[in-house]
Amino acid sequence: MALFNNHGNPRNRSDSSSGEEDPLIKNQNNIISYGAQEYSPSGDPTSINADIETLASGKWQPRKRRCALETVEPGSLNVLSAKFESLDYDICENHLLLEEERTKGYKFIVKKNLARWLIFLLIGLLTALIACVIDITIEELSSIKYKFLKKYVDQCISENCLYIPYLVLVISNMGPVVIGSFLVAYVEPTAAGSGIPQVKCYLNGVKIPRVVRIKTLFVKVVGVITSVVGGLAVGKEGPMIHSGAVVAAGISQGKSSTFRRDLGIFKYFREDHEKRDFVSGGAAAGVAAAFGAPVGGVLFSLEEGASFWNQSLTWRIFFASIVSTFTLNVVLSTYHGHPGDLSYAGLLNFGKFESISYDLFELPAFVIMGVIGGLLGSLFNHINYKLTVFRMRKIRARWMRVMEAVIVAAFSATLGFMMMYFLNDCKPLGEDPTNNPIQMYCGDGEYNAVAAIWFQTPEASVRSLFHDPPGSHKDVSVGVFFIFYFLLSCWTYGLSVSSGLFIPSLLTGAAWGRLFGSGLASVFPNSDWVDPGKYALVGAAAQLGGVVRMTISLTVILIEATGNITFGLPLMLTLITAKWIGDFFNEGIYDIHIQLSGVPLLPWEPPPLSYNIYANEIMSHPVVTFNTVESVRRIVDVLETETYNGFPVVDPHPKEQGDGESYQTFRGMILRSQLIVLLTNKIFNESAEIWNLKQISLKMFRDEYPRYLTIQEVNVTDEEKRYTIDLRPFMNPSPYTVQHSASLPRVFRLFRALGLRHLAVVNDTNEVTGIVTRKDLARFRVWRHRGRMGLEELVISDR
Ligand code: ATP
Repeated sequence: MALFNNHGNPRNRSDSSSGEEDPLIKNQNNIISYGAQEYSPSGDPTSINADIETLASGKWQPRKRRCALETVEPGSLNVLSAKFESLDYDICENHLLLEEERTKGYKFIVKKNLARWLIFLLIGLLTALIACVIDITIEELSSIKYKFLKKYVDQCISENCLYIPYLVLVISNMGPVVIGSFLVAYVEPTAAGSGIPQVKCYLNGVKIPRVVRIKTLFVKVVGVITSVVGGLAVGKEGPMIHSGAVVAAGISQGKSSTFRRDLGIFKYFREDHEKRDFVSGGAAAGVAAAFGAPVGGVLFSLEEGASFWNQSLTWRIFFASIVSTFTLNVVLSTYHGHPGDLSYAGLLNFGKFESISYDLFELPAFVIMGVIGGLLGSLFNHINYKLTVFRMRKIRARWMRVMEAVIVAAFSATLGFMMMYFLNDCKPLGEDPTNNPIQMYCGDGEYNAVAAIWFQTPEASVRSLFHDPPGSHKDVSVGVFFIFYFLLSCWTYGLSVSSGLFIPSLLTGAAWGRLFGSGLASVFPNSDWVDPGKYALVGAAAQLGGVVRMTISLTVILIEATGNITFGLPLMLTLITAKWIGDFFNEGIYDIHIQLSGVPLLPWEPPPLSYNIYANEIMSHPVVTFNTVESVRRIVDVLETETYNGFPVVDPHPKEQGDGESYQTFRGMILRSQLIVLLTNKIFNESAEIWNLKQISLKMFRDEYPRYLTIQEVNVTDEEKRYTIDLRPFMNPSPYTVQHSASLPRVFRLFRALGLRHLAVVNDTNEVTGIVTRKDLARFRVWRHRGRMGLEELVISDR
C-alpha cells in the first residue's frame, strides 16, 4: 500500500480505489512538494505485509525529498516557519568532553553541583526582586493617578465639568501606553504579550530569537508597568514568568551578550541543555512570585514547558520557587508596613478565603460553571485569533502598532468613564472596598460601585469581586462590566505591549461568576451556602481555564493563591470541564498564538494512527554530509550554500548500492556552530602547532556560545581553503540514530524525549540514508474540530 502519492500526499488508507477523500487526512493540498520518486517499496499497492518485508530486507528506495519553502500569507494556522531553529539538548560526547572529564575529576562535579544550587538561589532572589520593583512601581504610580482623578471627579461633579477628569483619565492612560508600546514596537518586539508562549517554545526546544536577552527583560519590565498604569485590561503576572526565564538564562551563563560582558563564571553551563534546566527554574520562580504559588510554579514548568524532567531538577526548581515566594513576601510585607507578618506571598493577592466551604450538592453547579467557562474561553480565543490574523495582515508597520495600543488605552478610559456615568450603582460608604471611593451622582455617605471597579488596578478589582459582601454590586452593573471587559481584554491581548492575560480572564470570570451566584441566590433565597464571592472565584477559574487550558498547574496555583486546600476539588472540576469543553472548539490561546507564528512545537504525544508511516517517508534524502577528514574549501562552500545546522560525518568511501545510489558509513554528527568555531580558530590539520599547544578545549566553544558568527563573517583565506580539518575529535561520535524502518511514533518519541535536533536515519549496514529534524516531525499535526479529528501535513514557509 503506497501511503503517499508522488507529491508526498497521504492517500486514502481505507479504500484507495474508491476515490473518496481519506477522512483522516485533511488539507490535502497543504503539503510539502517532494521530488518525483514515489515511495512504493513493495510494488504491491495493497499489501502492507509486503511493505514490511521489503523494509526488513533492505530492498527499499528512499524517496528523494527536499522541503520546498512556500510563501504564504501571514495568519495561517497550518504553516511552519523555516526561520525557527532548534536547540540541541543532546550532550555531545566528543573527545574534548572526555578530555575535560579526565582532567577535572570528581572535584569538578561537586563544584558544578554547588554552582547549580547557587544559581537557582540567585534565580529565586532576583526574580522576586524584579517582581517587587514591578509591583511597587505600579502601586505607587496607580495610587497617584487614581487619587488625582478622584479629586477631579469630586470637584467637577459640583462644578459640572466632568469632561476634565475624563480627559485626564484618557491622557493618563495614553501617556504610559505610548512609552510601553513604543519600546515593544521599536526596541524589542519579543517583549510583547505575556511571553508564556515564547518560554513554552524555548523549553520545548525551539530557539526563539532574543527571547532570553537582558534587553527583552528591560522592555518587559518597563512595558508591563506602563500597561497596567495605563489602565489597559492586562495583568502583570504572566510577564513575570518570562522575566524569571530571562533572569535564569542570564545568571546561569555568567555573561551578557547585550552588554558584551563576560564575568568568566559558570562557563561549564554554556550549553543548551544546562541553560534549559535553569530556564525551567526561572519560569517556575516567576509563577511563584506572581501568584505566591511555589508548587504551582513547579507544576507550571512541568505542564507547560519542560521537555526534560528528573528528580533532582524538580528539587532545585522547587527551591528556586520557594526562595522567590519568600523573598517577595519579605520585601512586600516590609513595603506595606508590617514586616514580620509575611502576608504578601505573591503579586496577585486573592485576599483571605479561609471561611469558604462548599456542599456536595454544589458540585453540579461548579461543573456547569466549567461548561460556561469553556464556552466563553473558546469564544475569547476565536475572536482573538481572528483579530491576531487581522493584525498580522494589516497592522504591520510599527507606528500602526503603537497607534492601535494608544487607541485601546483611550477606549478603555472612555468605556470605564461611560460606565461610571451611566450606571447608577450607589452603595453606602460603610462597605467601601476601595481606597478611592468616588461619589459621582450618589447621595452623601454613598459611593459609586462601578467607579470602584474601574478606579483601581485590575488585581484590586478581582479582590473586590471575590470579597465584597453580597449586594455590593448591582447585577446589571456586573453584567455590563462583564460584557465590555470580556471584549476589551480580547482586543487588548496581542497588542504591541507587555501584558498578561491571567488577570483580565480572572476579572471577567469573577464578574460572571458573581452574577451566577446572585442568580442562585434569587432561586434559593435565604440559603446561607450561596456566597457570591465563592462563585466569583469558581467563575474566575473557569474563565481562565477556558482561555489558557491549563489544568493541574492552574488548579494548584489557584489553591495556593486562595490559601484554601478544601476548595481544590471544585476548582479542579471546573478547570477540567472548562478545558474539555474549550478543547472541543479550538486550542488554548497560547497554542493558537504559537501556531500563528509557525513555531515547530512538538506536542507531548506523536500523532495517533501513524505507526504505518516510516522513518524513510519523513526523512530528508539525499543528505548533505561531511567526510571524517574534510577539506576546508568544501566546508566553507557547504556552509555558504546550505542553511542546515547539522551534518552527518561519514567515512570517505562511498559504497555503491544496486539501485544506483551510494551511501557512506555513519561516524558521527557535527553542528554548523562547531564548524564555525573550528574555522574561526583555524583548527586545521596543517596548523599542527595548535594541537601541540593543547589550546583546543571545550572552552573555545563555550566562549562563543550562544551567538556564533555566520560563515560570511569568518575569514578564511584561499591558502587555508586548501587545508583539511579532522572532524573526529569534535563531532558527536555516538549520536542517536534510527533504522529506516522505524515508525513515526518511535522516531517522534526518541526525538521529543531526548530533545534532539538532528536524527540520522541509517540502513542495515549503518550507512546514512536520511536525516530527520524537528520540522519533519512537527509538520504532522493532529487537527480537531467539533469532535472530529485527523492528521494534517503543514506547509513549511519562508516567512
Ligand atoms: P534546526 O533548524 O532545527 O536548527 P536544521 O537547520 O539543521 O535544524 P531544518 O531547518 O530543521 O534543519 O531542516 C529543514 C529541512 O532540511 C528538514 O526537512 C531536514 O530534514 C532537512 N535537512 C536538515 N539537515 C540536512 C542535511 N544535512 N542534509 C539534507 N537535508 C537536511
